[in-house]
Formats: sequence, C-alpha cells, structure tokens
Amino acid sequence: MVEIIQVNISGDDKPGLTAALMGVLARYDAFVLDIGQSNIHKSLVLGILFKTTTEQSGFIMKDLLFEASRLGVQIRFTPIERDQYDAWVARQGRNRYIVTLLGREVTASEIAEVSSIITAHGLNIDAIKRLTGRMPLDNPGGKSCIELSIRGQLTQDGRLAFQRELMSRSGSGLDISFQKDDIYRRSRRLICFDMDSTLIGTECIDELAERHGVGEQVKAITASAMRGEIDFKESFRRRVALLEGLSEDVMEEIAHTLPYNEGLERMMRILKMVGYKTAILSGGFTYFGNYLKMKFGFDYVYANELEIVDGKLTGRYLGEVVDGARKAELLRLLCQVENIHLEQAVAVGDGANDLPMLGLAGLGIAYHAKPKVKATADQNLSTIGLDGILYFLGLKDSQIDP
Ligand SMILES: [Mg+2]
Repeated sequence: MVEIIQVNISGDDKPGLTAALMGVLARYDAFVLDIGQSNIHKSLVLGILFKTTTEQSGFIMKDLLFEASRLGVQIRFTPIERDQYDAWVARQGRNRYIVTLLGREVTASEIAEVSSIITAHGLNIDAIKRLTGRMPLDNPGGKSCIELSIRGQLTQDGRLAFQRELMSRSGSGLDISFQKDDIYRRSRRLICFDMDSTLIGTECIDELAERHGVGEQVKAITASAMRGEIDFKESFRRRVALLEGLSEDVMEEIAHTLPYNEGLERMMRILKMVGYKTAILSGGFTYFGNYLKMKFGFDYVYANELEIVDGKLTGRYLGEVVDGARKAELLRLLCQVENIHLEQAVAVGDGANDLPMLGLAGLGIAYHAKPKVKATADQNLSTIGLDGILYFLGLKDSQIDP
C-alpha cells in the first residue's frame, strides 16, 4: 500500500544536513513528491513530502529520527491522506499574489498592518523575501523592500476591496504593490513612461513658459489639466498658443539642464541590461523626449511636436495631440509591435492623463502622483526614486549590484 508522509525539519543549519536526511530516503528508494528548504539567519527549515510503502515507512521514519537526533535538529512526521494530497495537487499555481512593501525604511507596524489586511481577506502568507541589500545600521536615505508571496481565494469584488485597502494604507513613507503572481509577472517586456514629473522633476511646458514670460498663465492651465478638471487637448492647445514667438535656442538650454528624477540612471541601466524595451509616451514635447532617448537609450518616444518657423515657435503644434487616450493606444500598438501580451507591459506616470495607460498595462504604477491618480492606480510609488520600479518587477539588489 502506498503511504504519503510529510516531514518537517527545523534547527540550526549544518553542512551536509540535507544530504544526510535525503540519504535515508534514497536507501529505501522513497519517491520525493515535494521538497522545499529555506535558511534564514543560519536557521534551517526543510520540508519533504515523500511516497513509500506501508512496509517501508516505519523503517524510514526510525532512520530519519536517528539521523535528526545525531544532527541535533527537530523532526516531525505527518501522514497525508490520498484525498488531501490530490486536493493539494489540484490547487497548483492558482490564486497566488505578490505584495511588495517599499520605503526608506519598512517598520514593524507597517508589516503588521499589511499582514492584518491579508489575514482579514482570508489570504495566507507563503513566503517573505527582502529584495533590498542587507541594511547597515546607519542608513539615512536608504531603501527597504520586502516581498510577500501570498495565496488564497479572492472573488473579483474581494480582490478589488483588498487592493483598495492596501492602497489606502500606502503613502506616508510606505509604497505597496499588489500583483497576481502569474507567468506574465515573470516576463514583463515593455515599460512605458510618462515624461514630465515622472522621468524628470519638472513640466517642460512650464519651463518654456517661464522663459517666455507667460509662466503663471501656463502653470495655472497645467495644474488644472493634471487635476483632471479640464480636457487635456483643450488645455494643451491653449498653453502652446501662449508660447508663440519663443526662440528655439531656449529649448536646447532647457534640455541641457533638465532635472532627472532620483534613480533614473540606475533604473534605465538595469532595464536595458536585462532586455526590457522602454518607451516615453508623453503629453509633453518630442524635443525633450528625444534628448532623454539619446541620453538614456529609450527605444521609443511619442510626444507632441511644436511647430517651429524661422527658429521661433509659432504657437501651434503638428499632428495629433498625445493625450491620455492616445497614450493608451500607443501602449497597445507597442505591444503589437513587440509581439507581447498587454499583461507583459508596465506603465508609469503621475498625471490624470496617464490613467488610461496605467489601467491598460499589466502593471500600472502611479509615480509620485497627483491624489486623483494615486486613488485610482493599482500600484503606487511615492517614497523612493524610479529605481523602486525594479523591486516591483521582482529584481533584487543582490542581483542588481553584486
Ligand atoms: Mg506627467
């Protein structure tokens, strides 16, 4: 008769421990159905699920017990019923999620709160992993990231409620991302960025207006558009019209002094290193997008083209305005060009005009975003720089900066 036995071993880690215990199973030709091991701070947890016969099982357990006692570790046996095992097999790969916590420091109370939300929704934490490097005690301006693998059944409504609760907890020093842990999560390929106030810490149109003496008028229109109060196209037309007569040289000066947001260089270096395609989808201007493309190696730039005649802006633009709907459309097109599923795309932005693309991409990240965007987006990054996106993609410091 077939017998399934679960073995749990815990204790101080020693060299050769796994080899010695597995050696016992090997002697009896037991069949390993599952095995998992982790070693945290020199403390080992090893779980084995094996299949044997009723005749052999007693001998195996006796020998394992002897071996464990010799090694000074605790061992526990649990017989598993056939039905229990079959049900476990059937649940494979289903209902797995990833919750990522990110901040300058992640506090015990923040982890406690997030864990409570997880428990309240009937979910269970399977594993916890630190993605940032080991933390020196004096760590001003550092960053800390913890990834929780969770499992459990969520209805469509339950998932939405869970997401909302996590998002309401994020902010004030803590960023949270919640993703389904599926094949797409492991194979993101394309990242589309908004430009102004996402990649760079300014709105280019405000800079241009400032230099043209129409700063206040343009700023007021920009702010109102980003809050979603007026239509983006209309606000764009009005703002560009105010720039009539501005010299082209001013554009170049501004491009050379653009303030890059924290982590941009590190993020782009790593994304390119591991083969991500990167795009700028901007309601700003191609001039600055192309400058960033040249500087950091973005693969695509889609933005608005200002009309220039005799070295001066005419106050008009060429072609179709890149607004929120157009950004989403471009993201969809780039997925087709790159021959990938929408779920493999990531979108990052801060403004109301980024919401359509954030909603369409497999992973939509609100970056240091306006309140309306934060409230609507599924993932939020506000505490640290752009390289925080690398953790949401599941990359670890120990791999990024070995
Ligand atoms: Mg923006």
